[in-house]
Amino acid sequence: MRRARVVGIVTIAGALAIAAAPFAADQAAAPAGPNVAQIEKVKDNLFVITGGGGNTAAFITGNGVVLVDTKLANWGQAILDKVRTVTDKPITHIINTHTHGDHVGSNEFFPASVEIVAQENTAANMKRMEAFKDPAKAHGLADRTFADKMTVLSGKEAIDLYYFGRAHTNGDTFIVFRDLRVMHSGDAFSGPTMPIMDVNNGGSGVAYPETLAKAAAGITGVDMVIPGHAPVTRWQAFLDYGEFMRSWVGSISAAAKAGKAPEQAAAEFVPAEKFKGYNTTRAKANVETIYKELGRQD
Ligand SMILES: [Zn+2]
Repeated sequence: MRRARVVGIVTIAGALAIAAAPFAADQAAAPAGPNVAQIEKVKDNLFVITGGGGNTAAFITGNGVVLVDTKLANWGQAILDKVRTVTDKPITHIINTHTHGDHVGSNEFFPASVEIVAQENTAANMKRMEAFKDPAKAHGLADRTFADKMTVLSGKEAIDLYYFGRAHTNGDTFIVFRDLRVMHSGDAFSGPTMPIMDVNNGGSGVAYPETLAKAAAGITGVDMVIPGHAPVTRWQAFLDYGEFMRSWVGSISAAAKAGKAPEQAAAEFVPAEKFKGYNTTRAKANVETIYKELGRQD
């Protein structure tokens, strides 16, 4: 058990390091300055704000601004500064894709009147986070939760939230801006990379491909995807990711069942040509996770 916990922590730290890497140049240029994010238009009333952790989406509605995710701690002002370059409307909602500190870290920056929405397992995971145990930050916890599906707002502003099962965590939400045909996939699809399978927050390697397949089948009318940590991409890239995860987890599971050592399982997997550019940094940790879930400790 102790070993499992250590592996989990190292994996998360590694992910944060990778997430921060693209912005290292900015930070090097201004080491003592305030946190500064970047903003980019996805649709006329939908923007992606990058830097400081996971991708934040800002959806401008008639009454205000709906944010998806709030990056690392101390990035709230940086998010607000970028929102203010496109609208003066107040922040009305925050929707969190999952529990990690690089996605919920600045929830507490926003006033208690902002409604925070999260899948029920994510809401429970957030309550266990050290950051929210400070009473001054507890208003950053979820105000409203759902189990499998919920729609926030209505008409052209409808935002559909879906939960399809365990993957990166046990509370990964796929967030669809229905009229715009854009989805924020959180870290269930963080980009073209082997994912973190955060078992300490209920994640699962074995269930991962099945969850992605359910999302691919259950979500319709999406053209563009905002991944958790990568540039905006096409729906097809999300479908490709599901295919990659099915082949990768399938290959490792088959090797485990055949009694092969984890190292051999990892070495024998040959990704299809279109997946050659995927980041495989987490291969070893993921093989260990899958073997453990399948009951083979080797
Ligand atoms: Zn995450």
